[in-house]
Amino acid sequence: MVIIDAPLVQGGSFLFHPAGALPQATPEDCGEEALAIAEAARDFVDGEILPRDEAIDRLDLELNRGLLRKAGELGILGIEIPEAYGGLDLEKKTALLVLEQMARQASFSTSYGAHTSIGTLPILYFGNEAQKARYLPKLATGEWIAAYALTEAGSGSDALGARATARLEDGHWVLNGTKAWITNAGFADVFVVFAKVNGTHFSAFLVERTDPGVSTGAEEKKMGIKGSSTRTVILDNCRIPEDRLLGGKGKGARIAFGILNVGRFKLGASSAGAGKRVLEYTLKYTGERHQFGKPLTAFGLIRQKLANMAVRIFVGESMNFRTIGYLDDALARTSWERETGGADKMKAIEAFAMEASMAKVWGSEALWATADDAVQSFGGAGFSAEYPAEKIYRDCRINRIFEGTNEINRLLIASTFLKRCGGPDGLPLDEARPAAGPLGDPLLDLAEDLKSRVAGLAALAHRTQGPKLLENQEAAARLSNLLMEAYATESAAIRAHRMTAAGHRWAELARDLAQVQGQEAWLRVQAEGAMLAAELVAGEALDAALAALRDAAPRPVPLAPIRAGITEALVAQGRYPVTPL
Ligand SMILES: Cc1cc2nc3c(=O)[nH]c(=O)nc-3n(C[C@H](O)[C@H](O)[C@H](O)COP(=O)(O)OP(=O)(O)OC[C@H]3O[C@@H](n4cnc5c(N)ncnc54)[C@H](O)[C@@H]3O)c2cc1C
Repeated sequence: MVIIDAPLVQGGSFLFHPAGALPQATPEDCGEEALAIAEAARDFVDGEILPRDEAIDRLDLELNRGLLRKAGELGILGIEIPEAYGGLDLEKKTALLVLEQMARQASFSTSYGAHTSIGTLPILYFGNEAQKARYLPKLATGEWIAAYALTEAGSGSDALGARATARLEDGHWVLNGTKAWITNAGFADVFVVFAKVNGTHFSAFLVERTDPGVSTGAEEKKMGIKGSSTRTVILDNCRIPEDRLLGGKGKGARIAFGILNVGRFKLGASSAGAGKRVLEYTLKYTGERHQFGKPLTAFGLIRQKLANMAVRIFVGESMNFRTIGYLDDALARTSWERETGGADKMKAIEAFAMEASMAKVWGSEALWATADDAVQSFGGAGFSAEYPAEKIYRDCRINRIFEGTNEINRLLIASTFLKRCGGPDGLPLDEARPAAGPLGDPLLDLAEDLKSRVAGLAALAHRTQGPKLLENQEAAARLSNLLMEAYATESAAIRAHRMTAAGHRWAELARDLAQVQGQEAWLRVQAEGAMLAAELVAGEALDAALAALRDAAPRPVPLAPIRAGITEALVAQGRYPVTPL
């Protein structure tokens, strides 16, 4: 759904509108074309990827590359590439649906994501005409594979501390340095390499595998995603033509961090997709295994885990589709026809940097909790490599580390938000923001009350500390957690509300899922909010902040029967059913 008639939603602005006031895309809005492509991706994963699960995880580079090539033949490597370069030029929402499918095999999904996102998109958004014409058609078909080489042994989170250098010599760039942890390095044909021109201007270059002076190290021995290639890329007086500079001298930071925003949105989507698979096999196992004469699904504490998995998937999907809807809307207002098309698109994406980080942090931690619940639900079998839960536990751990660690992303959420609040055109903040309402649906009221309190605490942080809050990282992380709770709870509530209004067959289940999120989010908001307030103020001001939190908190409702109902629906369906595919 392109919500082009409505005014463009401003990144980071969700907190300043009553619950439900902003337009919101949901998975239920997906059009036929997007669903047809997602179905093709699902069939590809069912037919080609999952049957080769073990072979992929033995790190068979040829197999990996061959499967990427097959994905290219299907068109799913070129979803975001314009038709003029052999792609499909579809909305990001389609890419999200496809990623959810790919995520059912974590190693392949990592190779796919590194190629289609952080490998290809720098060329798409920052390449000149000749660069796009040279690389994009090959990347769309999978004839060539791309990689993104930012990290070095000495500079990970502090990416601008890179030591790789580039100097211009006789019409060629000469690159020196070693990039570390590069996904797809074992078989990639083109690397987006970040290096400093003359040791100062951080810039991006297109380095081909066959260029003189390029080599890769041994495969890293990893905890998980063992079937994805991860190596160092060594540049030893690597000579490349002058026109392989990407986006201009000194533009490296813009490219590196701009592109990571897209990677972060997508990590949210793949986390939801992986969660669906975990829930499916955990439902099967807990339905089949009996203890005390009953299936495990009969026990309240197992039901709690199964229901919580579904809550996390529903909430994650709701956040992801909401954000991707804003993004598609902003991107639809730009055009490749304009000379500045790529830059305009990147700018549109960057406006939602905060939402991108929220999708990444929230999604990766939700999947981590789900993987842990799966291991626990399997009991001893959860600890055995003979069963699937052990693998996802290892495979999903990386999601909290790459694409910017969750610590760095939490700091980004807080700093982006506080920056948006400052300045003459800043977002309006009101410490006493009253909750709007009643809004005609108890789920919306619950979300609105929560948002108004989070807005109040954010305003307190802004007034007392402003950007200085970042010097107290624990407090900044608490603010980020509060913002995520607000975005997550509202996104789920609005989706359930709309499903109810549309008479959707899973509306009742959706309401239960949103209810559990809302109730438990309130508990977390009370704890985080109290601790944040204590970092900001003392004495009577602290008492006032604590009282405001207490007064706004809803009376708790019993969640056990709600979760029992959720589990019943999950068991009957054998899967998470509130999904477009
Ligand atoms: C399997 C895998 C694949 C990868 N693929 C790629 C790839 O394709 N391309 C690429 O360029 N890179 C890739 N990376 C690198 C990855 O992005 C980095 O590992 C990550 O950004 C963290 O950097 P680091 O490992 O140097 O950790 P560090 O930066 O040393 O961080 C260590 C710890 O300190 C914390 N920390 C650091 N700075 C701060 C701060 N200012 N405030 C608070 N806490 C802080 C971190 O959050 C973390 O917990 C990959 C890594 C792995 C493991």
